[in-house]
Amino acid sequence: MVGIQAARGTRDILPEEVGYWQQIESNARDIFRRFAYREIRTPVFEQTNLFERGIGEATDVVGKEMYTFIDRGDRSLTLRPEGTAGVARAYIEHHLSAMGGIQRLWYSGAMFRYERPQAGRQRQFHQVGVEVLGSADPRADVEVITMAVSLLNTLGIYDLTLALNSVGDGDDRNRYRTALIDYLTPFQSHLDEDSQDRLLRNPLRILDSKNTKTQEIIRHAPSILDYLGAQSRHHFHQVQESLTDLGISYTVNPSLVRGLDYYTHTAFEIQSSHLGSQSTICGGGRYDGLIDQLGGDSTPAVGWAMGMERLVLLLQLQSISPTKIDFYLASKGQQAERQGMVFAQALRNVGFGVEVDLSGSAFNKQLKRADRSGASACLILGDGEIEHQSVQVKWLATGNQETVNQSDLLTQVDYWRQRLGENM
Ligand code: ATP
Ligand code: MG
Repeated sequence: MVGIQAARGTRDILPEEVGYWQQIESNARDIFRRFAYREIRTPVFEQTNLFERGIGEATDVVGKEMYTFIDRGDRSLTLRPEGTAGVARAYIEHHLSAMGGIQRLWYSGAMFRYERPQAGRQRQFHQVGVEVLGSADPRADVEVITMAVSLLNTLGIYDLTLALNSVGDGDDRNRYRTALIDYLTPFQSHLDEDSQDRLLRNPLRILDSKNTKTQEIIRHAPSILDYLGAQSRHHFHQVQESLTDLGISYTVNPSLVRGLDYYTHTAFEIQSSHLGSQSTICGGGRYDGLIDQLGGDSTPAVGWAMGMERLVLLLQLQSISPTKIDFYLASKGQQAERQGMVFAQALRNVGFGVEVDLSGSAFNKQLKRADRSGASACLILGDGEIEHQSVQVKWLATGNQETVNQSDLLTQVDYWRQRLGENM
């Protein structure tokens, strides 16, 4: 029998890699808690027309990338290509607006798009995302951006670019759309095929064409920022002012747009120069028209989604290691092995991670295993240590060794945590 492999564009996340995922998930939960966001879990598949209406038929996602199938009851269903449409549907369906005030929600999970697989681009991929529903305040835009930057920073990722733009409101965009079509029409035959297609249907999308010739033409195109009305300019100004207050740097990029009508005001992307062509880790913005578009009461909203695979790649590229195990416990002799079980458990009870050597092999071999374990330090118990209720701590990064009282490790937890942090 020919071995069966994972389907194209999907991959297994093996134990070796899963530490990165767990670290991202746990940091994300912590950040969301600190910003008062609550988790929502929506189904992996939805009725196809939710995405047609909620993402838009003129987009690549709906036009080319959806995993759509007819089920045994003749219903057209689609594996979710992104999280916002499902959250918006749930918000309307369960009258979450009636629960008063502003809903701050986060989600994470698998998404599905039929794309050409490559580094940082898969058919089943994972996102973590947030949505604020019910606030039109520019501070909500700033809050979600701050949250994304904080999350990346807690993971040790600082080398980032935040690209920011405003797409204004519907009126602004209509005026800009006309100006853009006027500008592009004389160049029509020089545009790439997709862009020619979009010229009348969805001209704003041409601005993010990857085609070099099209990009050259676009460099001199009118800027949406010159078409913003007073209210939109004010919103954008407040967002920028507040980001500056918070020490978050950004670059305004007028060609960062989302082509659909329900996108309004702020659009942003966070990129890392370390990721090559798949450089965008996080994309988001305001979508004041979406809930209305899906049949709910008009509700302003803003949010973002982050690609987990690209985040994991970035951590690996920057050699940022996922949380290591704290201690590897090696023992010399039966008495030490027996006491080692009790000591390891006491350490775990005060919060340390401990891997006990279960190989029963010679002591030197246990030390070699300790080196390979990825622990920060090896704890060594032998006859002498048992007699004095002490333990040797061998820092694996440097090989330095010291003898300490067992009770010291159990009572001075903060101190040892800090030493472990310095010896990752
Ligand atoms: P791209 O331009 O890279 O296709 P996008 O505009 O389609 O991105 P969004 O829909 O804004 O992406 O999704 C937000 C984030 O989800 C992206 O910035 C990226 O990190 C991640 N992402 C999107 N599609 C994929 C995919 N097929 N595989 C892995 N990650 C993805
Ligand atoms: Mg895409």
